[in-house]
Amino acid sequence: MQGIKDKISIVTGGTRGIGKAIAQKLHSEGSKVYILGRTEPNEETDLIFKKCDIASFENVGDVIKEIHKEAGRIDILVNNAGITKDNLLLRMNENDWDNVLNINLKGVFNTCKHVSRIMLSQRIGRIINIGSIVGTTGNAGQVNYSAAKAGLQGLTKSLAKEFASRNILVNLVSPGYVETEMTAKLTEDQLNAFLNNIPLKRGAKPEEVAEVVAFFASDSSSYVTGQVIHVDGGLAM
Ligand code: NDP
Repeated sequence: MQGIKDKISIVTGGTRGIGKAIAQKLHSEGSKVYILGRTEPNEETDLIFKKCDIASFENVGDVIKEIHKEAGRIDILVNNAGITKDNLLLRMNENDWDNVLNINLKGVFNTCKHVSRIMLSQRIGRIINIGSIVGTTGNAGQVNYSAAKAGLQGLTKSLAKEFASRNILVNLVSPGYVETEMTAKLTEDQLNAFLNNIPLKRGAKPEEVAEVVAFFASDSSSYVTGQVIHVDGGLAM
């Protein structure tokens, strides 16, 4: 893929699951990749780990400053970190709402805010946010999560409009069901209900999401901004 080699990338939540696959894909295309997370992975990789809680505005600011100092620039930001705290509204407590919104939505504001000054002065950059199809469709038991992911649609489109004149492209990749630790929590009944509704009749591998993210990071998408693309085997159409 053209345009990723020698670029400096940041992938939040790049320590496991979809984020790890994205980080590995960008690295395999020749990018230097920083991964942000709260827990350091115990395996040796070429990805550069920075401990960071993306829900903390100050913590994100310090880490972005450190990366910029080390690498000299920041070209690609992938906002992938996210959590779930599922429950029906009647049983959802305020903490479950706040935690999910603080990480899944405000966390993206925090990274965009700190990285944008750097990208604006470079007059080039790519921001790829990871949403979810439930941000489009809604999902019982996920009012917090789907509200945060729907919020990312508005954030992505607004930022795309604000930054287009500086050649910074902002897009949203929204997966359906992907096999990761996050979805390992689903019961067999929930899983079967999900799979039955997917036209492709299977979940995605994290690498299949990473391919689409790499497209948005590459020169192949140079005329695409403000878009939401579902990577969901046809689930939401
Ligand atoms: P995982 O639970 O496997 O990984 C989540 C990653 O996010 C971890 O690296 C975790 O590291 C990091 N993370 C969580 N909270 C924070 C925080 N406060 N600060 C920094 N890093 C954090 O999730 P997935 O790989 O399954 O999901 C990745 C993204 O894809 C999420 O945004 C999710 O909403 C989205 N998605 C996933 C789907 C799926 O089916 N799996 C479907 C649709 C969307 P640590 O805990 O150490 O901080």
